[in-house]
Amino acid sequence: MGFLKKIMEFFAELFAKKGKITTTMPQTDTKTAPVAPKQPTIRLITLSEYLMDRDTEYKLAPEFKNNALVLLEKVNKLIQKSGIERSVNSGWRPTYYNNLAGGSRKSAHLSCEAIDLKDSDDKMKTWIMENQEVLEEFDLYLEDPRYTDTWVHLQTRAVGSGRRVFIPY
Ligand SMILES: [Zn+2]
Repeated sequence: MGFLKKIMEFFAELFAKKGKITTTMPQTDTKTAPVAPKQPTIRLITLSEYLMDRDTEYKLAPEFKNNALVLLEKVNKLIQKSGIERSVNSGWRPTYYNNLAGGSRKSAHLSCEAIDLKDSDDKMKTWIMENQEVLEEFDLYLEDPRYTDTWVHLQTRAVGSGRRVFIPY
């Protein structure tokens, strides 16, 4: 009996996994692709991409570098989960660049606690808004997408209201 139960549990788990895969992956022709396709590799955001070479111009404080690494770990997990490849629209902003970008004086970009991902096709903002629990899961805060037209702003720094989707101002 115990053995049969194990086999049944095994198949139940297998089908549960199969169900999950088919909902997140595009349908493929099983005749031409008899082997299950591998999860496509998503290009992740690197530290140098985030720093935008600005660390050659301005000194990057060790605590800011650490902030950047923490931020990227969380953001990359979110990118991986979404399956949506993105690149950096705006990363670290030393004061000069923050002023140039019209960023707030308290912008989380100054301390490497925020990133803007390019999102002119709205795919990422739509996905996050439909899966808002990922913000809790990866401990990130999203600027309300109504205020970010062609990008998404994600930050690790908690906002006063405590809301995961926040209105800037
Ligand atoms: Zn931003």
